[in-house]
Amino acid sequence: MREFALAARFALAAPFAVIGSAACRAIEPSNRADLVRRAPVSSPAPAESAETVSIHAAHAVDVIAGKLLDDVWVAIEDGRIVALRTGLERPPDGRVIELGDVTLVPGLFDCHVHLTGSLDGDYVNRSVHETAIDGALRGVRNARVTLAAGFTTVRNVGCEGFADVALLRAIERGDIVGPDIVPCGHSIGITGGHADETGFRQGVLESGPEAGIADGPDECRKAVRAQLKYGAQAIKCVATAGVLSFEASVGAQQLADDELVAIVDEAHRHGVKVAAHAHGADGILAAVKAGVDSIEHGSMLTSEALDLMKSKGTFLVPTAFLRRRVDMAHLAPPQRAKAESIFPAAEASLRDAIAGGVRIAYGTDAAVYPHGENAREFAVLVEAGMAPIDALRAATLNAAELCQKPDRGALSPGLRADIVAVRGNPLADVQALERVVWVMRAGSVAIDARR
Ligand SMILES: [Zn+2]
Repeated sequence: MREFALAARFALAAPFAVIGSAACRAIEPSNRADLVRRAPVSSPAPAESAETVSIHAAHAVDVIAGKLLDDVWVAIEDGRIVALRTGLERPPDGRVIELGDVTLVPGLFDCHVHLTGSLDGDYVNRSVHETAIDGALRGVRNARVTLAAGFTTVRNVGCEGFADVALLRAIERGDIVGPDIVPCGHSIGITGGHADETGFRQGVLESGPEAGIADGPDECRKAVRAQLKYGAQAIKCVATAGVLSFEASVGAQQLADDELVAIVDEAHRHGVKVAAHAHGADGILAAVKAGVDSIEHGSMLTSEALDLMKSKGTFLVPTAFLRRRVDMAHLAPPQRAKAESIFPAAEASLRDAIAGGVRIAYGTDAAVYPHGENAREFAVLVEAGMAPIDALRAATLNAAELCQKPDRGALSPGLRADIVAVRGNPLADVQALERVVWVMRAGSVAIDARR
């Protein structure tokens, strides 16, 4: 089996040169430094064993070339892909996983989830009655269903009390089943803003920089440092008002220009990327000018913002499926009014961003609608004008870059064996990505729902 893998690795060098370029991303010095620095909390889960395993499937999507491959063999050793070939005879030895008539795609990313949250029950008052421990325990189930939906890596953009870091540790220990998590710790925002607990009387749930509530550039720096101290691997900040809080506006700028600059400067100095929640035009522009790496939601994108995002390479992480899935009747009346005004704007902005060539990374805001339905955003992206292959790239290549995970995002030799099998051809019908039947994470079979 090893001979097959080694031979295949060399044989692939020429015809799959373009795939090799993805593998090269994994060993660029700057990327390697990132991986080493984060080793304590981001090392891949151990593979089942050091044996070579070959996966056979009717099809696979090469997301780099944008092609569907037929009769595909993927060889895996030590949790990594060592060869990908088409049209071979069965390898002479080693374990074979015969998946049959499915299409393999790289493990998917969701860059915008809240694994510890959900919008069921009395969600408005939950923060008064529950602690971060409750959030982490809710996250156990949510992590499992997210992985079962084919999402092998997620960025958790805001929670209470570092419950996301605790979830990541439990998954890495093998205590629970879930995706890799890029935790952000608490969202960073202003007193009385979207990141704060609003709607309660004075004295209830007041907090400070360590819990993400910061006023002025100095407190913003402290908030970033505190999130990193306790395990955040990315920083989430709140540039504008939002839907699920009780300030009057949904889109007004909240963090001031100098606060945004301080957050980005501090995070980037530590080699960590910044995601900015931003609905309104002024806050989007201020965040992009400050140098954030992604605009989350981006509901009111102006042509000025689109041009600047394109020239700076800022990602948009749209969450447009919310409009179709959020249970409006369950929202508190002030929140419902804001949702009704902002969701249509977000869909229009998404169309403009796609038409304008802004870089897009896949996100959903799962928690605001049920976890495990993460793949339903793909159809919204395609309806808004994106080609199915580009929607898939948003959830693989682009997201891997945004999440600073250069060791995954394609089915390429050298990359981590995060592999998902779906029924159907996602390049012809992107909703095939909703029909996940088998998931491998870091070389271990995590989900098998074929029967
Ligand atoms: Zn969110």
